[in-house]
Amino acid sequence: MGGFGYHGRAMRVDRIFEGGNLLTMDAARPRATALAVLGGRIVAVGEGSELRRHLDAERVVSLQGRTVVPGFHDAHNHMPSFGMGLDDVPLSSPPVRSVEDILRAVAAQAATRPRGSWIVGGGYDQNKLAEGRHPRAAELDTVAPDHLVWLRHTSGHMCVVGGRVLEAIGVERVPVPEGGVVERDASGRPTGLLQEQAQGLVRALVYPYPQAELVAAIGRASAHYLREGLTSVQEAGVGAGLVARSPVELSAWQEARRQGALGVRATLMIAAEALHDLPHAAADGDGFGLDLGLRTGWGDEWLRIGAMKIFSDGSLIGRTAAMCCDFAGEAGNRGFFQMDVERLRRIITRAHRAGWQVATHAIGDRAIATVLDIYQDALAAHPRADHRHRIEHCGVCRPEDVQRLAALGVIPVPQGRFISEIGDGMLAALGPERSPWCYRQRSFIEAGLALPGSSDRPVVQGAPLLGIHDMVNQRTASGRPFNPSEALAAEEAIRCYTLHSARAAFREADLGSLEPGKLADFAVLSADPTAIDPGGIGAIDVLATVVGGRVAHDRMGLD
Ligand SMILES: [Zn+2]
Repeated sequence: MGGFGYHGRAMRVDRIFEGGNLLTMDAARPRATALAVLGGRIVAVGEGSELRRHLDAERVVSLQGRTVVPGFHDAHNHMPSFGMGLDDVPLSSPPVRSVEDILRAVAAQAATRPRGSWIVGGGYDQNKLAEGRHPRAAELDTVAPDHLVWLRHTSGHMCVVGGRVLEAIGVERVPVPEGGVVERDASGRPTGLLQEQAQGLVRALVYPYPQAELVAAIGRASAHYLREGLTSVQEAGVGAGLVARSPVELSAWQEARRQGALGVRATLMIAAEALHDLPHAAADGDGFGLDLGLRTGWGDEWLRIGAMKIFSDGSLIGRTAAMCCDFAGEAGNRGFFQMDVERLRRIITRAHRAGWQVATHAIGDRAIATVLDIYQDALAAHPRADHRHRIEHCGVCRPEDVQRLAALGVIPVPQGRFISEIGDGMLAALGPERSPWCYRQRSFIEAGLALPGSSDRPVVQGAPLLGIHDMVNQRTASGRPFNPSEALAAEEAIRCYTLHSARAAFREADLGSLEPGKLADFAVLSADPTAIDPGGIGAIDVLATVVGGRVAHDRMGLD
């Protein structure tokens, strides 16, 4: 220790937090008991007595012997959707067990809301319903004939709507969008199920959402996230397309920050549909992106522009992911691409060339292989160091493609919590031979990749400790082992959810570990995940959350 004094006087700091069990995720000093904060950043990490000897702290705060980790960072989530969804009719299983249960929930809403208004439900999963199928428009019309009923599948890749909504979108007149399916029964009538891009037909009725609604949703989600120890997130798509809520969404985030409603640091991926041709000098070869040339990396400590987000295929449990072979028990169904592969190639290559990080949603093994081909060709034609292109979910990854990811330096972004919440459905969709390829973790790390942690919330619960629990325990909801050879140790899973997530957003210089120079973002836990029975990780409480040295959630009297 040394170097903190100047002119014989101790350096002043805002606070020393001491008496904790710090899991720093800093390879140079993995364990410590105290850290000092000045101006929102960590200036020293070590032992309390040592720090107090060299530093003159405005306040010394006791961590009460608790375990401290860097603030969790969710590398792929949908925060305003989660915030807005807090008002939806909850249709997750449990407790919902059947189509009957869903109809009862819709009927109850219909009884309390004016005719002609929306009833939006979220989170159902046909794999978990007794009938083993989606609800139908005709059924919804028996319980809520005068309401606009819109029930979103937990995957976000499909929805079921009632007859009034089918009428409102003019389903018999409008063309089905590319990459979408309007399901019809044997007689040719729409069943109410809209898959993938066809969901855009419903969204057109409500899009864009008002700014005030988005700001409120970001605020509600922030408060929730801080209680779970999250201090930074990556938003998987704003501005256009299926995942967006408004074409001017960035200004809603800015406004949330101005109002003090944005509690966590956010990196916003921009939906590919928002990027467009730009006038450019001949010397620049091509022009593609957002106006003014805004691109990946623009912003500050709280809010910045991340990757371009683009979809290649659909969902595994929804059986729309693009597969090399048929889904188990469904001869002829190999899923589909959301857009023509040549168009996908053109957009990714142009974004790459324009300096964007690219994050492509790919779940099926055929989609992953295709996206890797595209990245490989783009990098060969236009080499770029440290591109950090990503594959979101990277669900079914063949052994040869694990090696290609590592060779190209492409970051896979799988979701640990999928294992328990939708793991049974994923295993059923794949069958036993391909199951070992599903939602890998250890094989990615062993190939040399820095694996991030993420939830895809609101697809599943987003509390990081639940994700870490599943990354370690590898059990589905039915208690079945998911992919035991891919299990991680608790410390590895925490590193994924902190340091490696930050790296996936180019933010590891500021975030992801407790070391001098980084932002003072951390969470205080009720137990040490690396020292308890792994079955108990999901039950650990977050006692306090600190962002930029400021206590933002406190259940232990830290402040
Ligand atoms: Zn997502």
